Amino acid sequence: MTSVADINVTRAEQSKLKDINLENLPFGKYFTDHMLEVDYENGEWKNAEIKPYQPLLLEPSVAALHYGQAIFEGIKAYKNARGEAFIFRPYDNLKRFNKSAERLEMPQVPEELFIEGMRLLIEIDKNWIPSQPEHSLYIRPFMFASDEMIGVRPSEKYKFIIILSPTGPYYAAPMRINVEEKYVRAVSGGIGFAKAAGNYAGAMQATARAKQKGFDQVLWMDAIEHKYVQECGVMNVFFIIGNTAVTPGLTEGTILAGVTRDSAIALLREMGYTVEERAISIDEVMEAYKKGTLKEVFGTGTAATISKIKALNYKDFEMTFNVDEWTACPEVKRRMDAIKYGREADRHGWMFKI
Ligand SMILES: *Cc1c(COP(=O)(O)O)cnc(C)c1O
Repeated sequence: MTSVADINVTRAEQSKLKDINLENLPFGKYFTDHMLEVDYENGEWKNAEIKPYQPLLLEPSVAALHYGQAIFEGIKAYKNARGEAFIFRPYDNLKRFNKSAERLEMPQVPEELFIEGMRLLIEIDKNWIPSQPEHSLYIRPFMFASDEMIGVRPSEKYKFIIILSPTGPYYAAPMRINVEEKYVRAVSGGIGFAKAAGNYAGAMQATARAKQKGFDQVLWMDAIEHKYVQECGVMNVFFIIGNTAVTPGLTEGTILAGVTRDSAIALLREMGYTVEERAISIDEVMEAYKKGTLKEVFGTGTAATISKIKALNYKDFEMTFNVDEWTACPEVKRRMDAIKYGREADRHGWMFKI
């Protein structure tokens, strides 16, 4: 086991921060001065170090590039008005990361490495957390198979790395979505619940085709009947029907258990909505739309928090919404942001102080 005392720190000689304008940041393009890198070898984690952000030197035979044993997480840190920095629900991401690792036959990353490594890394690069409203520091932990060997088997060596990227306000323009009828993202028994790199690769063609047809994303349906809703692109999806919020349940193992999803469920309940985590068919969505009870449809995820869906196309029928009149999802966003930026008390214990 590695304790934080075992993380070897080498500081960058000078910060790149002075060359970067934190006002106008494209998502995921700039990285902070340091990174955490740890090796897994012979059944244990070793060589934990924080060092200047730099390229990796890998052999072409490195297993992850061939067979895709690669998983990741997406987390954010925020600064409040007093300049204190907090990470949003990192323990939930740790749990999910280790579930993903288990499913891909990869080793568990201990809490001391994941949480303490992240905390120490952010503390060192604290000046990179933007303090402007709506800005944050995006945290990307990831792990990949690093055996130099192209035989097919679970790798014996892995690398666990954390990199950090300052991000500006993510203006999530309301989306036009197409119900995907041909391609699928996840099947029961598959890896849909894991935050695996391969899930993203497998989704790209459908998404590209939807974009060619003028949509922003696809609504993924179940793999067997193409009848039940799964997710919207790389976000979880919510339907507000009357006074009930419905989101697909996690029991089939086809849904990524979003931390934003879980947070939205808690906030919606506090706002007086009944929340149902269950199977919801596209026919039920259509019926509610036609009856006029389908009020709001939105996606949730760390990058954008909430993305409104202004149009949902199924076969030749387009459901359209007047998103400016919505009340539930703007209030979920307002409440979540108020907690993240320390404007409201953190009653759920979501904020982890750095
Ligand atoms: C990461 C992800 C989400 C959102 O999860 P959050 O923890 O809320 O960021 C939803 N769906 C998929 C497929 C994802 O990969």
